[in-house]
Amino acid sequence: MSADKPQFLIQQHHASTAHYDFRLEVDGVLVSWAVPKGLSTDPREKRLAIRTDDHPLAYGTFEGVIPEGEYGAGAVLLWDRGSYENITETDGNAVGVREAMDAGHLVVRLSGKKLCGGYALQRLRKQNGHEEDWLIIKTKDDEADARRRPTSTQPESVVSGRTIDELED
Ligand code: MN
Repeated sequence: MSADKPQFLIQQHHASTAHYDFRLEVDGVLVSWAVPKGLSTDPREKRLAIRTDDHPLAYGTFEGVIPEGEYGAGAVLLWDRGSYENITETDGNAVGVREAMDAGHLVVRLSGKKLCGGYALQRLRKQNGHEEDWLIIKTKDDEADARRRPTSTQPESVVSGRTIDELED
């Protein structure tokens, strides 16, 4: 992870509904989406990404089990992490992350242990409050690979090597 680049991370979360939390460090918080199926490496796969509340940076190192009765109860596994670059452009001009978020179109280049290369986030419709539906789609680049299934073939934590079933035991 490069010191001058912001971090990204993905936490597999077995809450009441299983999902993957995709989080980008922006201005000292983790801007977050819940992705029910996780991210794909296939540019033809559009994955739903539901915008959720920003989380504090400190949450990005959490792996473990949130007790019953607490918000987000269930196991949380650090599935991937690394750094990212905002590569959003409009008419060839660079667009800042916040501006891109407001416009509902953000493109990032991930440098993770499992996921690398470009991902486009596209907002489907703007709603009141925080929860919005977006799509997250792999862009066509050298890291695109329609045959990989990283959520199935690489289920282990990037910090502990454990699977989410092992965390729950
Ligand atoms: Mn979650």
